Amino acid sequence: MAEHADFYLRFWGVRGSVPCPGPATVRYGGNTSCIEMRCGGRLLIFDAGTGLRLLDGSLGEGPVEADLFMTHTHLDHVCGWPYFTALTRPQTRLTAWAGHLKPPHTLASVLDRFLRDPVTPVHRDNVAAEIGWRAFAIADTLTPHDGITVKTALLNHPNTACGYRVEYGGRSICYVTDTEHVPDEPDRNVLGLIEGADILVYDATYTDAEFPKFVTWGHSTWQEGVRLSDAAGVKTFVAFHHDPSHDDDTMDGIAAELERARPGSVVAREGMVLAP
Ligand SMILES: [Zn+2]
Ligand SMILES: [Zn+2]
Repeated sequence: MAEHADFYLRFWGVRGSVPCPGPATVRYGGNTSCIEMRCGGRLLIFDAGTGLRLLDGSLGEGPVEADLFMTHTHLDHVCGWPYFTALTRPQTRLTAWAGHLKPPHTLASVLDRFLRDPVTPVHRDNVAAEIGWRAFAIADTLTPHDGITVKTALLNHPNTACGYRVEYGGRSICYVTDTEHVPDEPDRNVLGLIEGADILVYDATYTDAEFPKFVTWGHSTWQEGVRLSDAAGVKTFVAFHHDPSHDDDTMDGIAAELERARPGSVVAREGMVLAP
């Protein structure tokens, strides 16, 4: 079982833009971006969309020690932040990383906006945890803990976003969302980041057929993910950040096409666990 591996990821939210719960999305899930990654005994969290509420619930009532890496702070990636109840426990230790913000913005100041009247009754005074805020420059290589290397790369997205590559025990998982490609010009930043990766989780909001209508919106397609994976020698491609208008039947169709295009590829679903 993948969850018995010492290096794996679990999807708690796989949607982009806005949560889309309902009978048409029960199989793939309606929560927005949040990924749990385990590296040995360490917990790494990527993005704080509504999936974070479910991850939080799985962590129990005790103190939590984790690193949170933000791709960026658009609403779909931060709207789970007020529901991260582990932060109300004083023994919790969170290190929160972001590279996409420029002064005067900091990750602390942006996330604080969600813990304020009159936006929410969950006030920042409720946060008892010790939070270490870590700003970095995109393209930096980070070492959050011994044996865990996190490489970063600039993505093509309004207000900027950061892609990640986590290396642990000689294997690698890349998390590359939200980003827009330029047709016929493979993104060199992305190619450099994902070279030879075991798993690539990629912004597959649209199909190539839909893409022309959404140029400048900052997203990509599963077909571009396949092209990048082939060019970079990625082992397993994972389509992620599904458009909220893509219901389960649409996603089944995409999964079937993806399997024909690149056998062994995966369409991310809530609750899915993958190990490299
Ligand atoms: Zn997004
Ligand atoms: Zn975004």
